[in-house]
Amino acid sequence: MALHDPNPQVSDYLAGTHQLFIDGAWQDASSGETFEVHDPATGRCIARVAEGRAADIDRAVAAARRAFDERRWHGLPPERRADILWKLAELFEREARTLAEIDVADNGMPIAFAEWMVGSTIAQLKYYAGMITKVTGRNVSPSIASDAVPMHAYTSVEPVGVAGIIIPWNGPIGTLIIKLAPALAAGCCVVVKPAELTPLSALYAANLMNEAGVPPGVVNIVPGFGKDAGQSLVDHADVDKISFTGSTETGKAIVRSAAANLKRVTLELGGKSPVIVFDDADPDIAIPGAAMGIFANTGQVCFAGSRLFVQKKSYDKVVAGISDFAKSLTIGKGMDPASQIGPLISAGQRDKVASYLETGVREGAEIVTGGSTHGDHGFFVQPTVFANVDASMRIVKEEIFGPVLVATPVDDMDDLVRMANDTRYGLGAGIYTTSVNKAHLVAQKLRAGNVWINGYGVMHAAMPFGGFRESGWGRENGLEGISAFQETKSVFITLNENDRA
Ligand code: ADP
Repeated sequence: MALHDPNPQVSDYLAGTHQLFIDGAWQDASSGETFEVHDPATGRCIARVAEGRAADIDRAVAAARRAFDERRWHGLPPERRADILWKLAELFEREARTLAEIDVADNGMPIAFAEWMVGSTIAQLKYYAGMITKVTGRNVSPSIASDAVPMHAYTSVEPVGVAGIIIPWNGPIGTLIIKLAPALAAGCCVVVKPAELTPLSALYAANLMNEAGVPPGVVNIVPGFGKDAGQSLVDHADVDKISFTGSTETGKAIVRSAAANLKRVTLELGGKSPVIVFDDADPDIAIPGAAMGIFANTGQVCFAGSRLFVQKKSYDKVVAGISDFAKSLTIGKGMDPASQIGPLISAGQRDKVASYLETGVREGAEIVTGGSTHGDHGFFVQPTVFANVDASMRIVKEEIFGPVLVATPVDDMDDLVRMANDTRYGLGAGIYTTSVNKAHLVAQKLRAGNVWINGYGVMHAAMPFGGFRESGWGRENGLEGISAFQETKSVFITLNENDRA
């Protein structure tokens, strides 16, 4: 076996034609059509997948609705559902390497990054398995009872119903489980629409769900294209909720469509996140931290720290340090353990990033390192640092979703906060400092859903994740993650004092 090849189990899995997973069974698309999936490191076709369209979404939603109405999932005792979700976590542990290798083949990410992501999905499955037995309502009788009308009142927390889960290609298994684990913990039945570029790990996980004992119809997986399968799911009148991760523009389109039946909507969207390095920061922490804040997963991370602000005295040193770090990164195929930077997902994404590199130069920014595509096959781009930028430039304002950092020197604390917040987004923000005071002061003032101090991009199942402003609606992970898939019911019982028979 060559070093760069996935293990034979993964190669065998990829080689087949993959069907849709509906009502616990593998099925062809109604149209009989399939589409190709490519390895971004080579551009070669690695698998064919059934192409779900509106008719298939209809079948999947009907299966989920039946499962919900028959209470196949939320009607089970909580302990039983918790056991099944925990068992799924154990199956993910058993299959961790395979799941990671599938995402490497599909997405191109370095294997170490893929393994980290699978590890976090296992933690999420366990976290939400544990939560199932803790879902309770409130007893509010003492607050509302009066002498005139005695009352008993309580709330119950119920699953929102049938949830549509639409996920992107930049973290296929990670973005699936961050939604699926709380959806299942809440008792929902779901239809998943994976990204057309990376549907394979979700389909592999379907087998594990069967093995764990998730009843048929509770999880349905329909790969297909956004404009067709995705749009049909968002438009579907029998879907109660959409949980979406992807671009801000698609998120806005989803909100417009979901208005038809006022589906609940959770959105985890784009970003242009600031990273701030103060003069008193430890350079051995700040430089690699800021570098990997943008270059990890080749910058294809919604919370990538793409705007760097450095206090003037340290600016040259920090920018040079990040540039040296960028140059030292090994670019290559994700399955090569030496690779630290994989390809971009597609030729289209590579070309989009390359055109931003040209735009930056045209706008007058200076390339400190990188600045072009890499190699003659696959979709690689060099990690790039721009200096001499200003707030009006497109490379400063727009989400590039590639390994491109723009660096700005700042001095005054008010300027710093103003510039960091000068974006329509608000997903992540990083602060590097050894001053506890500065760290907390600036964290308070940043308009972002996630602030990381002296370490960028940390996530945990127990900590809510999501964005301010155009970075989204709602939160994933934590208690907020499950409540996004729940409805609250208030029950009032009027008690009759005369009932004395
Ligand atoms: P990108 O343009 O980078 O692929 P998108 O936000 O368009 O990002 O895609 C994220 C997910 O949303 C994918 O699964 C895609 O198929 C899906 N999608 C795209 N357009 C729509 C749409 N109009 N309705 C529902 N889902 C969509």
